[in-house]
Amino acid sequence: MSKDKTVLFVGAHADDIEIGCSGLIIKNYIENPKCRQAMVIFSLCETDSGLDFTANEILGDMKNAAHTLGIRWEDVYTFKFPNTRLPEFSYEIRNTLERIRDDYKPETVYFNTEHDKHQDHVAVAKACIRAFRGGEELRCYEGYANLPEFKPCLYVDISAQMQDKIDVLKCYKTQEKRKYWDESLWAAKAMLRGQEAGLNYAEAFELLMRVE
Ligand SMILES: [Zn+2]
Repeated sequence: MSKDKTVLFVGAHADDIEIGCSGLIIKNYIENPKCRQAMVIFSLCETDSGLDFTANEILGDMKNAAHTLGIRWEDVYTFKFPNTRLPEFSYEIRNTLERIRDDYKPETVYFNTEHDKHQDHVAVAKACIRAFRGGEELRCYEGYANLPEFKPCLYVDISAQMQDKIDVLKCYKTQEKRKYWDESLWAAKAMLRGQEAGLNYAEAFELLMRVE
């Protein structure tokens, strides 16, 4: 479990963080209640998603998810950059991250893996790598569009949080039509990662940077 006091989770889209590390967030909240946890989301996906929902509807889902995660809404930073076009805004995304970094001073930062098929995830990963160069520990979480190059080396046991993770993901009513919005898939993914580490259920991460 992370002993960090200040942790920042960065995602390209609403729901990325919950898919990749909601078990870990809940575990931190329960086992280390003094740990401050904040989230940054760059796109609400209300444009070009192929789904029919408004920004307000997905914000409502996010609020419910944050509440279930134990993250205060004032610690959730949301932006409305256009879905699928984040690479065009790499300068603005990096500047935004640097402002949040200076304000929040995270000790550990989690963000999308760069080893991913989605260009928005890659753009956010690249911006994080450039913005956080002050000794922060950098960890990358996975999604459902990983490339074979995603090679986790850090596993977090979420066996006791698996049902909570499902409850968090179920907060996203706006995403229910997506192929990967499937409770059995979420459990299967965590079982597979758990199997790799001798656990029942796990979330897996790349450890990109640690300074000791
Ligand atoms: Zn995403």
